[in-house]
Amino acid sequence: MNTTLALLGGTPVITTKEGHYTWPRITPELEASVLKQLHESLSIYDRSGIFARFEQAFADYHGRRYALVENSGTSAIYGMYEGLALQPGDEVIVPAYTFFATVSPLLHTGAIPIFCDCNQDGNINPDEIVAHITPRTKAVVVTHMWGLPCDMDAIVQICEQHGLILLEDCSHAHGALYKGKKVGTFGQAAAWSLQGQKIITGGEGGIILTDDATLYHRALLQGHYNNRCKQEIPRDSDLFEFALTGYGLKLRAHPLAIAIALQQFGHLDEWRQQKQDYAQQFSEALAPYPFLKMPRFSEKQPSWYAFMMQYDEDRANDIPLDVFHRALLAEGLTEVDRPGSTGPIYNLPLFTKPHIALPRLYKTPFTQKEAFPCADSFYHRALKLPMWAFPDDQFIVHQYIQGIQKVCDVVLNCPESLLAPASLQ
Ligand SMILES: *Cc1c(COP(=O)(O)O)cnc(C)c1O
Repeated sequence: MNTTLALLGGTPVITTKEGHYTWPRITPELEASVLKQLHESLSIYDRSGIFARFEQAFADYHGRRYALVENSGTSAIYGMYEGLALQPGDEVIVPAYTFFATVSPLLHTGAIPIFCDCNQDGNINPDEIVAHITPRTKAVVVTHMWGLPCDMDAIVQICEQHGLILLEDCSHAHGALYKGKKVGTFGQAAAWSLQGQKIITGGEGGIILTDDATLYHRALLQGHYNNRCKQEIPRDSDLFEFALTGYGLKLRAHPLAIAIALQQFGHLDEWRQQKQDYAQQFSEALAPYPFLKMPRFSEKQPSWYAFMMQYDEDRANDIPLDVFHRALLAEGLTEVDRPGSTGPIYNLPLFTKPHIALPRLYKTPFTQKEAFPCADSFYHRALKLPMWAFPDDQFIVHQYIQGIQKVCDVVLNCPESLLAPASLQ
């Protein structure tokens, strides 16, 4: 067994550069579903065909009444906000640590995002939610970060107690469960991305679920004008007269995308179980290293969109995360990543200077008086692995475990070698 780190001139654990993790996997079954749809229809005006089949399957799986496919997860999130008929000046409590598209569509409503710090697991902190409620608060949005469900007992209780609407961004969390209950079923509405990297993907796409008829009809009008609105909005509704034009946007999904998503969806539970098995292998193999904190998930069944570790430099014999990460990459572990665009979002220009970007809705900048130390810390310490989903990934999983153990052993037992000038360049 070679123990000299590749970063210091040794032999890498993995020498193949490509194909460590490919998502989605293009199987003959997937190809057939695309071809079938290609011959069936490339544009669907109403709730029929592949849209109806996917929406029905997704709604049934979650036990929800209405489902609406969109052209992206961002559009699906926008649809939830439109569904609430928010007014300028309304406040919506949002995570400080998430992907920005959880919040950016809110800026098209005139409402004010109120950022809220996270827990040590990266998910929104319920105590911080309470601390940010004001008489203007209308809703709370949570993201189940990296597929780990938020603390839903506490969050649901807070929202009920204060009469707040709860929305879930489940874009990382397809099929995840909290105490046996699926995410996306805790609030008034939930949205999922079906973008290329997501667990259920159509390449691009999104979906909303809700039990609330008015919310659903408003989301329909926002992006699905004419036939579908006429078909689904009751004639005696105040909203029916807008059915022809909708609210001016078109956010309809592409049928080929939804055909892909439906085929993928059929494998969701099997993938979650396989990912869980591999996640367990990583957790157990890496548990002995005190400077690597594994995700904790008691009472939760994560979707394992990613396996997020937290690197604690103070317990790593002063080896900086940057050096640790470079040592892993040198071993050929090319999938180990430090996430960039998913992180603390409270400082992004859209959320501090909306009066420049969207002057029709905002007159003044948002002055951020607050710090979000947990969001910053989680981001700076985060080390991400994809989580594999197929039985034949066992060998690559094993290699990744070996590679991480090899670098960890050096951090633990001879950190001096890693602090030598050669590795710090
Ligand atoms: C991917 C993602 C989105 C946006 O979805 P798109 O389909 O890319 O528009 C929103 N929120 C989260 C948490 C995401 O990961």
